[in-house]
Amino acid sequence: MKCSCGNEAIYYQKYSNKYLCKECFIKDVERRVKKTLGKDILRRNVKIAIGISGGKDSLVMAHILKKLFKNIPNVELTAVFIDEGIKNFRDKAKEIIVDFCKKNSLDLKIVKFKDEIKFSLDEIVKNNYLEKLNIGKPCSFCGVVRRYLLNKHAKGYDFLAIGHNLDDFAQTILMNYIEGNIKNLIQFGKSTEGFVKRIKPLKLIPEEEVKLYANLLNIRYQSTPCPYSSLSYRHRIKDILNNLESFKPGVRYSILRGYEKLISLVDYKEKVNRCKICGYPCSGEVCKVCEWLKKLNVIE
Ligand code: SF4
Ligand code: ZN
Ligand code: ZN
Repeated sequence: MKCSCGNEAIYYQKYSNKYLCKECFIKDVERRVKKTLGKDILRRNVKIAIGISGGKDSLVMAHILKKLFKNIPNVELTAVFIDEGIKNFRDKAKEIIVDFCKKNSLDLKIVKFKDEIKFSLDEIVKNNYLEKLNIGKPCSFCGVVRRYLLNKHAKGYDFLAIGHNLDDFAQTILMNYIEGNIKNLIQFGKSTEGFVKRIKPLKLIPEEEVKLYANLLNIRYQSTPCPYSSLSYRHRIKDILNNLESFKPGVRYSILRGYEKLISLVDYKEKVNRCKICGYPCSGEVCKVCEWLKKLNVIE
């Protein structure tokens, strides 16, 4: 099949019924990222911290941000890598990221669990600290600490860029609807007071297109899953959505659009306190991370 430009197509975009050649596909992805960012973000005098994990999404996001900001003056882009201390897995990610940042002249900040909370994630698991904290799975601990550290190290930046793609969005929205988790559903779409504003440049890009973009541009990424991740509820939702998408192309977009319409009508603001130990925004008196670190005798 041919692309509309006359070149041989390499990809069929089912939801738009278009055949795209390599060049048009790359342009199409970058155009949608540009549209998502808009003029408020894509401008001079801006400082962006980019959360980077070594997976395809964060590296593709960093690559496109670097490209889109190339000719805009006075822009500061810094990759922030959270190293949880997961033997072999994160070491491999780190090697890929260091290499990527060097090749793309991107500043890199490496933040280690071990330095920040005294223990690596491996140590937390090995020492049975999860039990002590009454936490079921490593992800429940890791996710909260990662988020905490990303926010902490993005302080002073105008935005914190997160590599969530369209599939991640549709899955999260659907999961929250199904579980009736209305508070989470609203919070997901609104920025929380006290945090650096989050941006999600890959919001309109389906996962398979992020992967294809990385492969076409030879962006090396880590594809092995984290040894602590388990086949979760999210995976089931992912299967359902992929199934739906195959006979109703574009369903992930319509879930996102419907959600955004809904959220624009909701006027909700949660009262935000400051953790009395570290100052992090939280709903109670002490944030979750400080509460855990106290129980582990890391802080008084
Ligand atoms: Fe942490 Fe879970 Fe992600 Fe592994 S899969 S890095 S444990 S949140
Ligand atoms: Zn073309
Ligand atoms: Zn705290």
